This record gives sequence, C-alpha cells and structure tokens, in this order.
Amino acid sequence: MIQIKTAHEIELMRAAGLVVAGALAAVRAEVRPGVSTGELDAIAEDHIRTAGAIPSFLGYHGFTGSICASINEEIVHGIPVSGRTLAAGDNVSIDCGAILQGWHGDSAITVTVGEPSAEDAALMAVTEASMWAGLAKALVGGRLTDISHAVEESITAHEHAYGIVDHYGGHGIGTEMHQDPHVLNYGRSGRGPKLVPGLALAIEPMVTVGDPATVELEDGWTVVTEDGSRAAHFEHTVAITPEGPWVLTAEDGGVAGLAPFGITPRT
Ligand code: MG
Ligand code: MG
Repeated sequence: MIQIKTAHEIELMRAAGLVVAGALAAVRAEVRPGVSTGELDAIAEDHIRTAGAIPSFLGYHGFTGSICASINEEIVHGIPVSGRTLAAGDNVSIDCGAILQGWHGDSAITVTVGEPSAEDAALMAVTEASMWAGLAKALVGGRLTDISHAVEESITAHEHAYGIVDHYGGHGIGTEMHQDPHVLNYGRSGRGPKLVPGLALAIEPMVTVGDPATVELEDGWTVVTEDGSRAAHFEHTVAITPEGPWVLTAEDGGVAGLAPFGITPRT
C-alpha cells in the first residue's frame, strides 16, 4: 500500500530529512585515512540522538550500525566496525537513516578518502547525477517509472558502459523506512503509480564500473560486486508536492542539484 502524506506530515518528514543531512555532513567531515567505519558510525549516531531522533538502521532486522559503510567493491549494507579503517583512495558509501516524531529520512553519499582517481571521480559524478535526474522527475502528473527511466538514461549516456545494480532500488518512505512502491533504477517511462502530492520516495541508484552482478557476503548484509569492480551509491528522500519536488534530505531542498534540469524545488 502506498502511503500518501498530508502537507503537515511532509513537513515533519523534512525535519527528519534534515537530521539525516546533518549526520551525513558530520560523517563526511571525518572521512580520512585511518578513521574506522565504527568511528564514523558513532559520529552519525551521536548527531541523530543529539537532534532528538532515533537511528533507523540500528536494530533493523538485527543490523548493528546507525550507518551502512560500504567500501570500494561493496555496494550497499556494509556493517560499520571499529577495527576497519579507511585508506587513501578508498571509496566509502555512507547510508544513513533517522526517525523523528515517527517520520523517516533516508540518504546516502559516496566519498573518496583523499584525492579520487579520474575513474573514481567519474563513477561518483555519474552516480550522483543519475540520482538528480531521477529526482527531477518527481513531479505531480508523472508516473513512477519516469524516475526509473531518467536514472537509467543518465547512466547510459556515458561512453563507459557503467553497470546498473538491478537487485536493489529505491522505495516509498514515511512512517516506515521501506514502503511501497519499489523504485527501479531502469525501465521504460510512463508506467506504474501516478506521482501525486504527498507521495515520498527514496531515490537511490547503485552504479558499478564493471558488471553489476552482486553477491551477498556471509555476514548476511554486505552486498558486493561479483567481479570486484568498484561501485557508488547516492540517495535522497524526496516528497512530491504541488510546488515541485522537495528533496527532504538535502540541506537546500534540492535547489543546486535540480538546477541543471531546469527544476525549481519547493524549499
Ligand atoms: Mg538508505
Ligand atoms: Mg533507502
């Protein structure tokens, strides 16, 4: 069932989204060689709890962190641990969620430790741009797969044949982190549920340098590329409003990210 929120409930989700944005900014500031993913997890949890919110990942089906920290060939769902440190040149995807007054926010960034190689910089840019292409289609009057198609088209527009991970995707979000509908990162446009005011979605492309086939590690969580190629993951939570997309987990509501698409968000 798709949960449609009132305008007031969307404002509550904005507050939750800003907590997640703040937690990710705090983590990003501490990404450096030698820092452990456990330390980054503690920074996120501290930020979330100080804001009066609850880390939604912690305890989710038994997950032991407040963030997912996925390094290099790890795509998503990496478990943060105190003994695992980052090195220069690593790419780390940080995924974070928080609950404030019963409403969820969910967002992810991928950052390179130190200076990225040209290949890594391109991987990150392509993945983030595809997320914004999808967010730019979170428009009243559209259909769900307009978003999916925009994400795919953005990724396949490049000379390098990037892989689009197809076992995982975005989702509805509201009083639970994962709600209907599932949001594919590929497909034909013009299908699926109509995009109506009060629908909130997490848009989260996962892109690989090589083949997008995935394997889940024996820890029961970490998803890696089968071929060992590097991956990137970006995510924002967006609300569909009569005034345009409202990127609830972006500090600026999506102003900068949507500008290249000629879209002005609600802010
Ligand atoms: Mg997430
Ligand atoms: Mg998500």
